[in-house]
Amino acid sequence: MADEKKYLLGKTFFELKETVASLSMPTFAAKQIADWLYKKKITTIDMMSNLSVANRTKLAENYTVGIKEPIKTTLSKDGTKKYLFDVGNNKYIESVYIPEKERATLCVSSQKGCQMNCLFCATGKQSFAGNLTAAEIINQVQSIDECDNLTNIVFMGMGEPMNNINEVLKAIEILTSDYGYGWSPKRITISTIGVLPALKTFLDSTQCNLAVSVHAPDTFKRVQIIPGEKAYPIKDVLKLLKEYDWSHQRRVSFEYILFNQLNDTEEDALKLADLLHGLDCRVNLIPFHQIPDVDLSPSKRDVMEKFQAILEKKHITATIRRSRGQDIDAACGMLSTKKINQTL
Ligand code: SF4
Repeated sequence: MADEKKYLLGKTFFELKETVASLSMPTFAAKQIADWLYKKKITTIDMMSNLSVANRTKLAENYTVGIKEPIKTTLSKDGTKKYLFDVGNNKYIESVYIPEKERATLCVSSQKGCQMNCLFCATGKQSFAGNLTAAEIINQVQSIDECDNLTNIVFMGMGEPMNNINEVLKAIEILTSDYGYGWSPKRITISTIGVLPALKTFLDSTQCNLAVSVHAPDTFKRVQIIPGEKAYPIKDVLKLLKEYDWSHQRRVSFEYILFNQLNDTEEDALKLADLLHGLDCRVNLIPFHQIPDVDLSPSKRDVMEKFQAILEKKHITATIRRSRGQDIDAACGMLSTKKINQTL
């Protein structure tokens, strides 16, 4: 059965070389397979026409390509599309395609659920069922109709990417290497609450952009919103980030969801400006999207604008983000596959 075979998708060039060696195929076949997988984006081994029939047969006895199309697509009235993927054992993940005037962004998941349990996030409320493999991450990109039109990929879907750093780095390598998609790392952004050892590994091994979920400027408030603050205090995250140069290659942004009377005061804005002082960065102010059983409400528009103005006055670029896909539960913090079995 095809599903019992291993996947070629998600393998780095190094791993493909190991694969062909283990099947006594010539080394150059690794380059040919990488081309078929990541440039021509074929779906079956049969389609690898410059491999000999004998080698294709050998490969197909042990492997399958590993492309799995989404099992459900939900379209928002604003054009946003939510894709649902079956990742086996009755577990599901979601990705969100966000078309804009000059960009087409795919928001991908890195885990089945999440262990971080952030207060505002539907993913954090469902049980954690493990990490996604690089194949399952790349499949979210490669199996959708819009794959060849994408301009950006953001790791802001389900899961904390830094808690699955090895597979996330493999997926990034495939997306940015010449043998793979050949994308500039500037087109990729990884979002994190600031899981420290992995964050350093990420910063040292890629030039991708970074988005840090800050959501409160001090430990007292942040720990109520992001329990991970206890293990990874935001001040330590900032200390690490300030050791890197953000003025040229890549960008760091800070995500800040504004909750009514929790983190939206003038004092919060001033503290945030202090925290970020000295860092070449931008702040994205995000409206809170209500989720079931969470007793929080969004800040009013004028409060958001006042918060933005305080940051701007302190010379920090701040943008109020537009919600996308809220009507299909695809906006920031809303992804969840907890009830999927009831709706399929
Ligand atoms: S916001 Fe991110 S890190 Fe926090 S629970 Fe949701 S998916 Fe996990």
